[in-house]
Amino acid sequence: MAYEVPALPYPYDSLAPTIDEETMHLHHDKHHQAYVDKANAALEGTEWADKPIEEVVANLSSLPADKQGPVRNNGGGHYNHSLFWESMKPGGSEPSGELLDAINAKFGSLDTFKEQFEAAGVNQFGSGWAWLVLDGGELAITSTANQDNPITDGKTPLLGNDVWEHAYYLTYKNVRPEYLKAWWSVVNWDIVAERYAAAK
Ligand code: MN
Repeated sequence: MAYEVPALPYPYDSLAPTIDEETMHLHHDKHHQAYVDKANAALEGTEWADKPIEEVVANLSSLPADKQGPVRNNGGGHYNHSLFWESMKPGGSEPSGELLDAINAKFGSLDTFKEQFEAAGVNQFGSGWAWLVLDGGELAITSTANQDNPITDGKTPLLGNDVWEHAYYLTYKNVRPEYLKAWWSVVNWDIVAERYAAAK
């Protein structure tokens, strides 16, 4: 079955003022839809068309050579944005339990983790993503260009923030650091904890 853009799990205006309603409509209805349409077009007629998108993105080098570029960009875009919408909720939440313990053990404190994650987003030149991943059983911060995803490199994404300008420009203009700092107020740590528990 062809891929579809998943419905937002909350109203379009419910992440405001952190993320404004118009940005949510453009980002979800237009940008994500375009990735889905192009990923479907690239995979149509191949054995990969019916496979879960995370399996496709994890095995890019196994795809037909002429499909690898389009699927890396658009399949990656579909996977990254599906994960992104789920990673937020109105009002956000706070990490706790084993996940918070692991963050404190690895980064020293939640605040230090946030600073390093924001730096990864600020320092990602051009378009891309900042990530909290599980890498060999250890938490780590990384960033990727364009729509690349850590699973292509064998890492498990736990949390990702989209630092493409389309994610923040209407509200934050060119000031990406302000967007990265404000974003914590809508992060759904409950689902990050679920991903951590499933992956570790
Ligand atoms: Mn995006």
